[in-house]
Amino acid sequence: MSATDLRRGLYDAVLLDRDGTLVEDVPYNGDPEKVRPVPGAREALDRLRAAGLRLAVVTNQSGLARGLFTEAQMRAVHARVEELLGPFDHWAICPHDDGDGCACRKPAPGLVHEAARALGTTPSRCVLVGDIGRDMTAALAAGATGVLVPTPVTRPEEVAAAPAVARDLPAAVDEVLRRARAVRPVTPRRTGTVLVVRSDSAGDVLVTGPGIRAVAAGAARVVLLCGPRGRAAAELLPGVDEIIEWPLPWIDGSPAPVDPDDMRRLTDRLAEVRADEAVVFTSFHQSALPLALLLRLAGVPRISAISDDYPGSLLDVRHRVPAGVPEPERALSLAAAAGFALPDHDEPALRVRTGPDPDRSDGGYVVVHPGASVPARACPPERWARIVAALAADGRRVLVTGGPDERELTAQVAAAGGVDLGGTTDLAGLARLLTGAGCLVVGNTGPAHLAAALGVPVVSLFAPTVPFGQWGPYRVPTVRLGDAGAPCRDTRATVCPIPGHPCLSGVDPGAVVAAVRTLAPG
Ligand SMILES: [Zn+2]
Repeated sequence: MSATDLRRGLYDAVLLDRDGTLVEDVPYNGDPEKVRPVPGAREALDRLRAAGLRLAVVTNQSGLARGLFTEAQMRAVHARVEELLGPFDHWAICPHDDGDGCACRKPAPGLVHEAARALGTTPSRCVLVGDIGRDMTAALAAGATGVLVPTPVTRPEEVAAAPAVARDLPAAVDEVLRRARAVRPVTPRRTGTVLVVRSDSAGDVLVTGPGIRAVAAGAARVVLLCGPRGRAAAELLPGVDEIIEWPLPWIDGSPAPVDPDDMRRLTDRLAEVRADEAVVFTSFHQSALPLALLLRLAGVPRISAISDDYPGSLLDVRHRVPAGVPEPERALSLAAAAGFALPDHDEPALRVRTGPDPDRSDGGYVVVHPGASVPARACPPERWARIVAALAADGRRVLVTGGPDERELTAQVAAAGGVDLGGTTDLAGLARLLTGAGCLVVGNTGPAHLAAALGVPVVSLFAPTVPFGQWGPYRVPTVRLGDAGAPCRDTRATVCPIPGHPCLSGVDPGAVVAAVRTLAPG
């Protein structure tokens, strides 16, 4: 494989909307003479082709259903598009209108599935670039990556809800290529024992899984240092040979005071690992440097971490990542900077030891998980109850899950028409339950990432306090609900600062029912 060839890695293909994305939107155009590419399109597409990525067009053409142009006219338009923009490997076209109830008209995910199949890949290995919310909704529902390139007709709420936004088509292509290159090591390494670190909660540990597997692919042995809240998730991760559990006072949300004796014991424990190197994974608001100092005191000779702060001699590999990158790719890019990549056969998706199960079948139930590790990301209980009632009225069997400390919540929510399983499942038990679920309905919290790791679709009631593109369910069919433009957006608040918690308190139970129908048609 040449250095410029980006096949395998993150993506196989880029799918492009036609009108408003590749060419200027001329409503119901049947005239090849009116085809006008957007600025820079040819050069941008050629860069994707040169990187070995396949290209397809995914386009709604309801003008066919309405008799506004003929199929022959449309073919003439597409021939002109290829004359101006170069060849596409597939054209996925929906000829229907809204009233036809087809499975292909965007925002339905059918065209994404069709294009992926025609290109010999899967939706999760595709990026869809489009100019309106329908494109992003179709991409997410198929498990593909979405990049929105807004035009003057794109609505502000569509821009707010998009997983990623680029100013024009060339910038969208830059972003796709930058992400794909970021997970490739310049100098691949093989080494002995690597100490990897990911503190914080279950979700944080799960989204770091691909990065840890990349390290494991180049290491003889991997020891994971995690915190108490991430322990159960750490035990589910493939590639981890040993776990050290230790609370870190510069990471914990409600930390104990720094205890010099405890820090000495931790340093001694880290020294016992006799690590050849360490890779310290963090979220962007966390500092790797305090631990890097302890690792130096423990004699670790090579340390890699992301740090915007000047690290002095604490780091050997100081990596930096732009904002908005999905957390699993952020971890993969640090692993790559340290010299580690996933092997070609290992998809860059979340994984746990038990899954995903390729023969997974929809067991005829939907799991609703109303709790959240952070209050600002939780939908109010009364709203959850209405959601459960609406799902039950739609004929769904609803299982309501939660931790031992969430029994009151699950009882209240399940009383509306579900089965209360509050307090009966640990994380591994929840994984077993999710494996048979049609989908999971959940906020932005650990179980969303567990579902993603199991290949189980997610209806995500996502509070916009943190970016969806960074923290949304990764590479799994998803429907995003909640007000993406609410005033709590990007505040990182742990308790909602806005009276009435408007981002989630207004979620329409009917929209949840529709989302479940999309993701779990059975
Ligand atoms: Zn259709």
